[in-house]
Amino acid sequence: MSDKFISGIHNYCDRWCERCTFTSHCRVYEKTSNLTPEQEDINNKAFWENLTENFKNTLELIQKEAIKHGIDLSKPLSIEEVRAYKIKEEEFEIETDKNPIFILCKKYQAITMPFLNESEGMVDKARELLDHLHLGIHSEKDVVYTLADIGDCFRIIEWYLFFFEVKLKRAFRFKIEGEEWEVENGYPKDSNGSAKIAIVAIEKSMAAWACLYNLLPTCQDKAIQVLSYLEQLKRKALQEFPEAMHFKRPGLDN
Ligand code: SF4
Repeated sequence: MSDKFISGIHNYCDRWCERCTFTSHCRVYEKTSNLTPEQEDINNKAFWENLTENFKNTLELIQKEAIKHGIDLSKPLSIEEVRAYKIKEEEFEIETDKNPIFILCKKYQAITMPFLNESEGMVDKARELLDHLHLGIHSEKDVVYTLADIGDCFRIIEWYLFFFEVKLKRAFRFKIEGEEWEVENGYPKDSNGSAKIAIVAIEKSMAAWACLYNLLPTCQDKAIQVLSYLEQLKRKALQEFPEAMHFKRPGLDN
C-alpha cells in the first residue's frame, strides 16, 4: 500500500473534489477520477469490471467493520432481526424528523431551493452593473469580478444545501448507536467528525449568504432570514456535539 494516501480523509471532507487540494492523497479521488472512457461506458466490459472491483472492495470494508463489531455476515438475518432493523430505522427517522436541528435544515432548504432555482436578484444586479458600466461608475473588470463572486456564492450555497443535513444525520446515528467500540479502543468518535464537517459546511454557507447580502440588495431580507436559521442550526449542532470542533480530521486538520 502506498503511503501517499491519507487514510480516511474522504470520511470528513466536503466531497467537493473539484476544489480539494488533497486529491493526490485521496484514494476515493484516485478511484473515481481516473476512469478511462471505456470504464465510463455502461455498455463496455471495462465498466462492469471496474464496478465489480469496487463492490469487492466495499464488501471487504463491510466485512472488516462487521468483524470489528462482532457480527457474523455469513449467517443470514432472521425475519425477526430484519423486522427489528426496520423498526429501528423508522424510529430513527421519526426521532430526527422532530429534532429542532432537522426542522431547521428543512426550513433552510425550503427557502433556499427556490432562491437558487430562480437565481433571485441576479437579473436586477446584472442590469445595475451594466448601467454602472455605461455610466463609467464601474470598470469592466469590476463587473466581471462582482458577477464571478455572486456566481461563486450561489455554487457554495448549492453545494452544501443538503450536505450538512446528511452529515448531521450520520453524526446522530453514530451517537445513538453509542460508539462503545471506538471509546473502548481509543478511536475518535465518528459522530464528532461528521458533526464537525457539517458545522464547517454551515459556516461556509453563512459566509456565502453574508457575501450575497452585500452584493444583492434585493435579497437582503431573505439573506437575514436564512442567516438566522443557519446561526441557530450551528448553535444547536454545537450543543448536541460539544466535542465536534476538537475532532482532528485526517489530513484536513493540523
Ligand atoms: S478528500 Fe478531497 S479529493 Fe478526496 S473525496 Fe474529499 S474532496 Fe474529494
